[in-house]
Amino acid sequence: MTSSPASPGYDLLVVGAGVVGLAHAAAAAERGLRVLVIERDSHAVGASVRNFGHACVTAQDGELLDLARVARERWLSLSSAAGFWSTSSGGLAVARSAAELAVLEELAATRADGGVRLVSAGEVRERIGGGLDSLTVGGAVLEEDVRVDPRTAVAGLAAWLEQQPLVDIRWRTAYLGPTDDGGARTSRGVVAAARTIVCAGHDLDYLFPEAAEEAEVKRCGLQMALVEAPTVGSSSARIAPAVLTGTSMLRYPAFSTTAASVSLRAELERTRPDLIGIDANVMLTQRPDGSLLIGDSHVTLATMPPFLDESASMVLLESAAALLGAERLVVRQRWQGIYASSPRAPYLVADVAPGVTAVSVTSGVGMTISHGLAVKVVDQLMASAV
Ligand SMILES: Cc1cc2nc3c(=O)[nH]c(=O)nc-3n(C[C@H](O)[C@H](O)[C@H](O)COP(=O)(O)OP(=O)(O)OC[C@H]3O[C@@H](n4cnc5c(N)ncnc54)[C@H](O)[C@@H]3O)c2cc1C
Repeated sequence: MTSSPASPGYDLLVVGAGVVGLAHAAAAAERGLRVLVIERDSHAVGASVRNFGHACVTAQDGELLDLARVARERWLSLSSAAGFWSTSSGGLAVARSAAELAVLEELAATRADGGVRLVSAGEVRERIGGGLDSLTVGGAVLEEDVRVDPRTAVAGLAAWLEQQPLVDIRWRTAYLGPTDDGGARTSRGVVAAARTIVCAGHDLDYLFPEAAEEAEVKRCGLQMALVEAPTVGSSSARIAPAVLTGTSMLRYPAFSTTAASVSLRAELERTRPDLIGIDANVMLTQRPDGSLLIGDSHVTLATMPPFLDESASMVLLESAAALLGAERLVVRQRWQGIYASSPRAPYLVADVAPGVTAVSVTSGVGMTISHGLAVKVVDQLMASAV
């Protein structure tokens, strides 16, 4: 797959204008490839705009940490080039029991290069905007985490890519499958492209059911809410970092692989069966307008029911309110987000037809790793084509 300006068609067709598709388009165009992105909707409305906008770098480990570190730098440079909002404010894991603090201490001890800085309850209070749960015993600053605003970052990246000479985006154009001669059938006719990368997120099974089934890809549904920031004193709370809690420590690998996480799970199963019952990851991020994104619960199924369970929302909102020391939170919006999920691996890269590669992030880290994964996939495809 090398760029040849005189030949007809595109070097690369990317299906899907979520973060995974746009990350591949950006990486490919940087390497001189002519890229066409097709997206079935008039703008992205999938997982990439429904999330926390949190590149949760520090709490990854192994290859995911390497991919996340590449992605971190790319988020910051793309945000600066394209003009969408980002912040390298880091993350903050709040400990509200000795078991939670033990997880943070163990992780900090293994990160010789820093990146995890233990802080007092007082510093947690400062970073969380003044309010605080009386149970808080300390926390850890996760230095490498960055944030974008999910509702503007993907749209901003798409708008910037459309201005790049090597990239076209066709909206309201659905991919239907490959043609026999290496092109693609779309809802607006056939596209000629040397290679195709399908980044259809959790809808991979609609296009390539065997590949989805082989990797046991299902849909993970999450409940979210947008709330007004609580008032502290006479002004609204300003919360720079992404805020994680004990349930987050059972989820992200750098926490969940500590020995201390075993005791933490037993503690939360005993003390917070309501949170464990909805597979919660109680966390929040603040958007540039001050509103807070709060979530989330997890249910994994082949097909996601459209109905939101109010009791799950209440558990999440009450937990977030307690964390912030607020009596209650004023909800502006609720929604369901869905991402691809596989018990096999956190992401899938599979050759699904001649010249067609499917890429799906199959865990809740698409905002964290996509820009790193895209560089890896595009470089591998280019190397294999030489
Ligand atoms: C509530 C929630 C919270 C999350 N929080 C975080 C977080 O804090 N940090 C993090 O790292 N990750 C988080 N994630 C995960 C992250 O959002 C996803 O991993 C990521 O957005 C997946 O990106 P995607 O591009 O694959 O999917 P999507 O954003 O869903 O994009 C796929 C696109 O493909 C298009 N498409 C599908 N089929 C076709 C077709 N046939 N033709 C044309 N277009 C097609 C769709 O219309 C869609 O726009 C969260 C996810 C959710 C749901």
